[in-house]
Amino acid sequence: MITNQAYRFELAPNLATLTLLAKSAGTARYAWNWGLAHRIALLKQYPDHTDKRRYCNAIELHKRWNVHKIEKPWIYDVSKCCGQEAFRNLDVALKSFYAGRKAGRRVGFPKFKRKGKSRDSFRLTGAVRVSGRYAVLPRLGSIRLKEKAPKLKGRILEATVSRVADRWFVSFSVVRERPEPVAPTGPVVGIDLGIKHFATIHDGETTRVVDAPKPLVAGLRKLRSLSKAHSRKKRGSKNKAKATLKLARHQARTANIRNDFLHKLTTDLAKTKQALVVEDLCVRGLARTRLAKHVLDAGWSGFRRMTAYKTEWFGSRLIVADRFFPSSKLCSGCGNKKVDLTLSDRTYECCACGLMIDRDENASINLQRFGLAVLANPTTASSAERKACGSERSGRYRKVATKRTEVKQEEAA
Ligand SMILES: [Zn+2]
Repeated sequence: MITNQAYRFELAPNLATLTLLAKSAGTARYAWNWGLAHRIALLKQYPDHTDKRRYCNAIELHKRWNVHKIEKPWIYDVSKCCGQEAFRNLDVALKSFYAGRKAGRRVGFPKFKRKGKSRDSFRLTGAVRVSGRYAVLPRLGSIRLKEKAPKLKGRILEATVSRVADRWFVSFSVVRERPEPVAPTGPVVGIDLGIKHFATIHDGETTRVVDAPKPLVAGLRKLRSLSKAHSRKKRGSKNKAKATLKLARHQARTANIRNDFLHKLTTDLAKTKQALVVEDLCVRGLARTRLAKHVLDAGWSGFRRMTAYKTEWFGSRLIVADRFFPSSKLCSGCGNKKVDLTLSDRTYECCACGLMIDRDENASINLQRFGLAVLANPTTASSAERKACGSERSGRYRKVATKRTEVKQEEAA
């Protein structure tokens, strides 16, 4: 099986390299803005949609950039990839904007990047490699790493350098051959993602609860005081810059804790369970409600993304019940459907058979059964199961066709 994988390392640049890194990121940003302005100008100049002069792809843009460069000698200080790859990013952004508009999705038009507001990053191709304690990058030379890098398995395609708070990272994108996975023999598990507990996992016999290290909630007071301090500082002052850095560091730390937790959980599940049955929750819809903070904190979308590719890596299966499958409303005892269940009902009380069960546990049992049913019926299984993401973009789910019932309560809340 051929897969794409990224290896990310922290850089330990010296002062000269640090300057060059910032310069490269700045050039990439400048190129993006220049390219975007150029393309917008063309769209305005040639309003007729069939006019070919209206469009200008990354290759053409780079040719024009080479002419523009002559007036801006500082562009020569950094790798030519900084501009080239920025134009490729722009191509992708515009393409997905047009494709999204066609499909009726809401994809925004590319925006101009601002220093200090946008993410600092640039991509390098060509002679990129990593050996021991050093990353070797074009025009930047060899840069020391914070830790010794393991030997990368596979062929390096490109390297992306980015800054998070005051730390710089390099991420090598690698295409690698993985041995065909042997399917794990563990049970089929139903996983209900919740707010009180991050995940409730039922394997047919027992239910276990996994709590997230709620980094955002725990660090919320600190976040509040940091952002308050940040907003009080005078714009453009040194103190503002200091406060910005403090805030960014706190946010980065929060993200690290969350990702560590998610990686450990999803790897464990995908390596040991035959199939994972999850719900296709409309995370974006939920994020707009008051629960937003908790939802985003809990990292459901990260969980979904990771399970998608890890089940493929480790030979497990991912079964997604679509968001209209009433996992919370069904009684796991008798199959009765409770219509008037509200979000505040933490305990499920069945009016038909009298069962009293924790709400999340009930949902995880239902999901587990749903998964078993899908596996038992190969005709639905073929459409339901998402064994490989080869045919689709990774991280996307194929939805299972279940009977459409009313919109889930969680979304209405
Ligand atoms: Zn019942």
